[in-house]
Amino acid sequence: MAKKQFKTESKKLLEMMIHSIYTHKEIFLRELISNASDALDKLYFRSLTDSTVTQTRDAYQIMLAVDKEARTITIADNGCGMTAEELEKNLGTIAKSGSFDFKRDNEQKEDVDIIGQFGVGFYSAFMVSEKITVTSKAYGAEVATIWESTGVDGYTVREGEMDTHGTKIVLTLLADTEDEKYSEFLEEYKIRSLVKKYSDYIRYPIKMAVSKTQKKADSDEYETLVEVQTLNNMVPLWKRAQSEVSEEEYRHFYTDKFYDYEAPARTIVQKSEGASTFTALLFIPTHAPYNYYSKEYEKGLELYSSGVMIMEKCADLLPDYFSFVKGLVDSSDLSLNISREMLQHDRQLKVMARAIEKKIKNDLLKMLTEDRTKYERFFDAFGLNLKYGVYSDFGMHKEVLSDLLLFKSSKEQKYVTLKEYVEGMPEGQKAIYYASGENTAKIAMLPQVEAVTSRGYEVLYLTDEVDEFALRVMETYMEKPFKNVSTDKLELEGEEEKQALEEENTQNADLLTKMKGFLGEAVAAVKLSATLGKHPVSLASEGDFSVEMERVLSRTPGGEDGPKAQTVLQLNYTHPVFEKLKTLDDDKLATYTKILYSEARLLAGLTIDNPVEFAQLISEVMQ
Ligand code: ADP
Repeated sequence: MAKKQFKTESKKLLEMMIHSIYTHKEIFLRELISNASDALDKLYFRSLTDSTVTQTRDAYQIMLAVDKEARTITIADNGCGMTAEELEKNLGTIAKSGSFDFKRDNEQKEDVDIIGQFGVGFYSAFMVSEKITVTSKAYGAEVATIWESTGVDGYTVREGEMDTHGTKIVLTLLADTEDEKYSEFLEEYKIRSLVKKYSDYIRYPIKMAVSKTQKKADSDEYETLVEVQTLNNMVPLWKRAQSEVSEEEYRHFYTDKFYDYEAPARTIVQKSEGASTFTALLFIPTHAPYNYYSKEYEKGLELYSSGVMIMEKCADLLPDYFSFVKGLVDSSDLSLNISREMLQHDRQLKVMARAIEKKIKNDLLKMLTEDRTKYERFFDAFGLNLKYGVYSDFGMHKEVLSDLLLFKSSKEQKYVTLKEYVEGMPEGQKAIYYASGENTAKIAMLPQVEAVTSRGYEVLYLTDEVDEFALRVMETYMEKPFKNVSTDKLELEGEEEKQALEEENTQNADLLTKMKGFLGEAVAAVKLSATLGKHPVSLASEGDFSVEMERVLSRTPGGEDGPKAQTVLQLNYTHPVFEKLKTLDDDKLATYTKILYSEARLLAGLTIDNPVEFAQLISEVMQ
């Protein structure tokens, strides 16, 4: 029979797997049992809506067997099974497996660690086997298919026979070597301990025929009986008391079930009684899945009714801004065959969703106070989503989310919360100041930032597009208004300064009008300012709609015709350049004005429309 080849990716991984270190190898059993359990879930799930699936509930099981002479371990399930096409698709390509979306190009060492901790499904069986034979029959199908492989050199597929539907996997173990005693896996005690260690919570019985030696009745002789025993406890992890479940068990449960290679940042167990009775087991991932910020990502929690899964991704249980949360909810208040449409209107579900949202928020706040480093990492991964949450639905969720936000700030350029910001405000500071820009380094150089920080005030550095929109929607935090440092009404001046500024503006009104004339529609006004520090000019915006907001909106579809910021060219009247302006004739003044305006734009992180003209003007002045 012709051998088929594994895909290149698969081949590489297989090789890596085969040579991984011995202590990791035992996880193969956990991986195969977990696949069997998934296959049982799938069939059970189907039986809820498909009356042709008639297997009774207590018949669902996983069978293990060892044969010392043949050196084989068999793992069989009576789940959904696979057709010939499915077998090839699922076992012929390793890279498609959800658990293998991590960086494949990383160093070998890291990969091996990943295998050790989390396994990579079916293929882990090659770590202990010289040959793997999979016989599978899809539910309702007539024929079975046999898939067989001895490793990297490929696999064969042929038709076969099987009594029931489901999948039977026979592993022929590798020969023992000096360091690696594969025969150990043929010992009953070893299998038993591996099931306890890794698969105790599997909700279907994992059965094995075990031999028992016991004394014969009425005689001194012993006899050996074979008895089928269930090896696992079968209590789902979330039904056990939290104190009895180790962190490692939660971790394995999470990484196995949600295809992550990294342990979760937080594990949240919620048991609620009263208005609604349910248990939730929730996880906050450490990093964002590769497709998190794309349309493909689907939020949702698994939904169980008294231990039986009724929905794989119940979106209604999670608000969009917490869409990164993974996990499940098990409730006795839901009926088993409730439909999706009915669920949407289910009152119980709404009560649960609200309680879950509150729990997640409190847990995040706890992480923020208890483990700042971890929280900051979390925020780097999901903060953007929280900020979109503030902005969405006209700010309806700002109360829930505002305490969870972090912003980099002028103080040490580290993250601060809004609360920390407000609590650190010196006497007399009236607003929460922020500045927008491409990155913190560029923001730090803005003239207005300097003006504000020189008064001892902290400035929030906004670098994500959504930031300023989110703050605008919030309006205030702890009764303090947010204020963009680039507004023309920064009002940092004291009374005296204000008066002086007004006087200067009046005295130089002619000059300012002329300058505005040279710039035409490019600016709404040219004004003097006392808060520009060492800079001669700066660009500000009139009112609340900033240049940065205009830039963001103009990039959205249809946004070119959106609102425009009203820009104001501010001149520092204490700067020598301003003194010079007063002495110029109109021609020169026009040249200087255009140069200053371009300078202000560049300082604000904007482009200039006509760089050639700018260069010519500079040369002209230099001559
Ligand atoms: P993963 O379980 O991470 O998707 P695997 O490599 O372990 O990756 O398995 C690949 C696919 O093969 C599974 O997603 C599933 O569709 C199928 N599969 C594996 N084992 C079984 C089984 N015992 N019964 C039915 N399908 C199975």
